Amino acid sequence: MSNDAFAKLNAQQYEAVHYMDGPCLVLAGAGSGKTRVITQKIAHMIGSGQYEARNIAALTFTNKAAAEMQERISRLLREPSDASQLTISTFHSLGVKILRQEAKELNLKDRFSILDSDDCFSLVQDLAVTTDKQVIRRIQGTISLWKNGMVDPETALKSAVDDEEAQAARIYRNYVATLSAYQAVDFDDLIRLPVELFRSSDRVREKWQRRLRYLLVDEYQDTNTCQYELVKLLVSGIGKKPMFTAVGDDDQAIYAWRGATIENLKTLQKDFSDLKVIRLEQNYRSSMRILQAANAVIGNNPKLFEKKLWSDHGLGEPVETLAMSDEEQEAEQVVMLLSAHKFERRARFSDYAILYRGNYQARIFETALRRENIPYTISGGQSFFARAEIRDIISYLRLIANLDDDPAFIRAVTTPRRGVGQSTLETLGAFAGQWQCSLFEAVYKGGLEAKLSPRQLGPLRGFCDFINGIEERASRPGLSAKGENAAALLDELMHEIAYETYLYDNFDERTAKNKWQNVLEFTNWLKEKSKGGKLEDGPEKSLLELTQMVALMTMLEGRDEEPDAVHLSTLHAAKGLEFPHVFLVGVEEGILPHLGDPDMPADQLAVRIQEERRLMYVGITRAQRTLHVSWCKKRKKAREVIQCEPSRFIGEMKLNEGVAVPLETEVLTPKARLANLKALLQKPKLA
Ligand code: ATP
Ligand code: MG
Repeated sequence: MSNDAFAKLNAQQYEAVHYMDGPCLVLAGAGSGKTRVITQKIAHMIGSGQYEARNIAALTFTNKAAAEMQERISRLLREPSDASQLTISTFHSLGVKILRQEAKELNLKDRFSILDSDDCFSLVQDLAVTTDKQVIRRIQGTISLWKNGMVDPETALKSAVDDEEAQAARIYRNYVATLSAYQAVDFDDLIRLPVELFRSSDRVREKWQRRLRYLLVDEYQDTNTCQYELVKLLVSGIGKKPMFTAVGDDDQAIYAWRGATIENLKTLQKDFSDLKVIRLEQNYRSSMRILQAANAVIGNNPKLFEKKLWSDHGLGEPVETLAMSDEEQEAEQVVMLLSAHKFERRARFSDYAILYRGNYQARIFETALRRENIPYTISGGQSFFARAEIRDIISYLRLIANLDDDPAFIRAVTTPRRGVGQSTLETLGAFAGQWQCSLFEAVYKGGLEAKLSPRQLGPLRGFCDFINGIEERASRPGLSAKGENAAALLDELMHEIAYETYLYDNFDERTAKNKWQNVLEFTNWLKEKSKGGKLEDGPEKSLLELTQMVALMTMLEGRDEEPDAVHLSTLHAAKGLEFPHVFLVGVEEGILPHLGDPDMPADQLAVRIQEERRLMYVGITRAQRTLHVSWCKKRKKAREVIQCEPSRFIGEMKLNEGVAVPLETEVLTPKARLANLKALLQKPKLA
């Protein structure tokens, strides 16, 4: 390890990187180099010969953060190939890895399916008596909290406080049973099942403890009980000192709604009495004005830990607030301002991020960017994977990966329509219920002939024969050890199901064309992925692995990025990232903070506002050099136009105190700005 890599660590960072005597917690504000401590520490551990790469695991929150970390580390290592031996992943991908290897122990096929949140919603919908979507979502949320809190259905039922909760607990029981019948797991299971397994089998736990000897956890403040359990089980080997480094910032805890508890930071100190706590105080990311605004906002929250944060990047440019007349104007202006800004600074599109509170806010910015031919990428949304046409194709992949995946079976067998109607499916469902088997298996069971006419049975069996054929070849040793080349199979599948024809038969030409473009984009992306990049385990991925990967991608983020594109992202998905220039949009009361139920009791509301404030803090602290904060005076909401107020957080930034910046800075009209810009763009590039 050269000394250069350490030249820039400050004293506290140096201490954190070199501390190897036991568990270590780095507790510090945004941009203070916590993630950098993790990458440097891994490089140091390997470089100094204390650990082998394959015994080190680093856990991050998004796939993107994991990929970035892997890349940073490989640049620090003397032997870049060591980087591929590391386990750097999200909690969920680590869970998948463990489940895949230990499936037998859990009576799970190694071809289990991972149901995404939409599938789980449909499942709860099937099990619930109500059709009220709000109630179903609530039940789904409650089940998830139970799972993450390691509460089993029986305990949930016993401790239910009212009818709705008791009802939810009963649905929870059936939900668990149905998942296991489907040989499927949901996102929560990806962590919960490994925890249960590690608790019940010393042998398996010890195996993983030997394998992952040192653990590093980024964004520790957002781990939930279950994830914390997993960490504890992995690091608490008998007769061995717990070895891990966790880094976090309580002011950036934004996943309480998913069961994360900031209390974990305190629990850590209780559970590990010899925990070494290190604080970092210098922010290396943002200029002073941005940092002041962030500190001023978060200063309104009660403090769990005292933290100071300073920067020597100079005062920097003023934070600008933009008052817009409505969301159309906001999108147009922001995009215009962004292009002008980029031109003036000779920046790259990838230096810019547009951040917002909710996924639904992306669409209008997408439209505005597309209109100006500005490349962009979206993360934090399901916008691409959630499209009907993509979900259709994924259902085939899921079915091939796991023939018992009933939700996938139903979607695939009916899209495109192939003569299998609702009543046929109902009969099949009842028959499968009698036999306690999956729909797919039921198709081949004797006795079905008595229930269905040949006209009904024919297309059903035809479909299953077809899937069986592909499935068999997907797993037969062929081009790769894992089966026939996934890309070729995918092409054949697409050809056989005639999805393109289906689109043109069922939608108007423009829509069909659009949808088909999306499908092509998706299959090309899959093919690219199947080749396996430098970050992947093996040389080539099987269809099964691809399917599981897709399921994971939909959760928190989008696809890979174009190299030079504006980042559109939710605040949640932007965690840990940094951008030279940030536009924080839709900063209005009701959006950020998002207030939810108007009848919420005051104490709950206060907690909610605090979490939203942390989200604002995360947003502000993503910016390195410039920050624009915009809000609209009017906005369409469910066909109505409502009047909006600037968010209380804008006032809390205290922009006009000390630094002379008016609260509302009206910018040039977009047309004028654009005209200026276009004129500038016409000129030959300056040297
Ligand atoms: P967040 O809380 O947002 O996740 P963080 O604490 O993880 O932030 P990093 O992303 O690790 O912060 O670091 C922020 C920026 O500061 C990065 O660009 C990093 O390279 C830089 N940085 C960190 N430490 C130093 C240092 N000692 N000298 C110079 N730059 C540094
Ligand atoms: Mg970080």
